[in-house]
Amino acid sequence: MPQMSGHVNRIPIPPAIPMPLQEATPLQVGDDPLHRPFGDTNLRGNLAHQRVGVTLEADQHVGVIRKKRPRRIDMRQFFRDIIIAYLPAETKMEKLIRGAANFNKNADSRLKDELGRLAANGQTPSTLLITCVDSRVLPSIITNSPPGSMLTLRNVGNFVPSPEDSWVGGDTSVASTLAFGLEVLNIRHIVVMGHSECGGMAELLARRNDFRTDALGTWLRNGRRALQKLVTRELMEEGLNEVNRLSQLNVLNSLEALSFYPEVRARLDRMQLTLHGWWFDIYQAKVLAYEPRAGRFVPVEHAYEATLAGFADANPAR
Ligand SMILES: [Zn+2]
Repeated sequence: MPQMSGHVNRIPIPPAIPMPLQEATPLQVGDDPLHRPFGDTNLRGNLAHQRVGVTLEADQHVGVIRKKRPRRIDMRQFFRDIIIAYLPAETKMEKLIRGAANFNKNADSRLKDELGRLAANGQTPSTLLITCVDSRVLPSIITNSPPGSMLTLRNVGNFVPSPEDSWVGGDTSVASTLAFGLEVLNIRHIVVMGHSECGGMAELLARRNDFRTDALGTWLRNGRRALQKLVTRELMEEGLNEVNRLSQLNVLNSLEALSFYPEVRARLDRMQLTLHGWWFDIYQAKVLAYEPRAGRFVPVEHAYEATLAGFADANPAR
């Protein structure tokens, strides 16, 4: 056993309760695992505790766990149990790890072949999608996109800063993605996709009178024009709450900001680029698109009716 040094921290092991693991309450949608004291991981802690049957102390600095009444145990197994037991948000992260491990083992051979081909030949995406970081927005799934078809840029609130803001010491991630997408990859479409129940929009509303100078507040300043449009009651859509209406206005705002970038403007003028405003309704699980003639967001199949019909005529076999 190594010598202990530094601060010794007692691991909060709950009393052992004999209980099968499947009786654990799974995390529900909306649960915040960080604010839920262990939940079903508690049970793993119990099981780990039972296996060892002793009180444990951990050295915070060197990460060593020692037991007060030593007896013969499988230390490797013990460490594995205790580390898994006390990882915050373990259930969700464990699923991701399992998913990645499963991908490594069982990925579809056609997908592997396609990725290999893309690695060898390079990517030629036709579209840049700018959307929010929200975990419920699933770009590849809701557009049924294969790898290599779409560049994706995500930020809180799918904002596009004005070019001046990007150049004068502001965030350059959008400007640089535009340069890369347009000048290097020659993309032909840019889609800005907002979504319902956007936490970024809720925060923008909450801070409308007080943009503090933290990172989030600074970034949310990109939504000030959308806020103005909300005040002047543009895009009044029946049944939309304020957050969702602001989110739709913000899509239009980002499209407008895009058009101020010279490389975007030049391609729009030459008709080499098309801008699209989309909005993902999470509750309804529907993708909407802004229809300029109607002046509102409608389901994509209606917004692109002519395009889809033309596509069907040109590809009767599909
Ligand atoms: Zn969002």
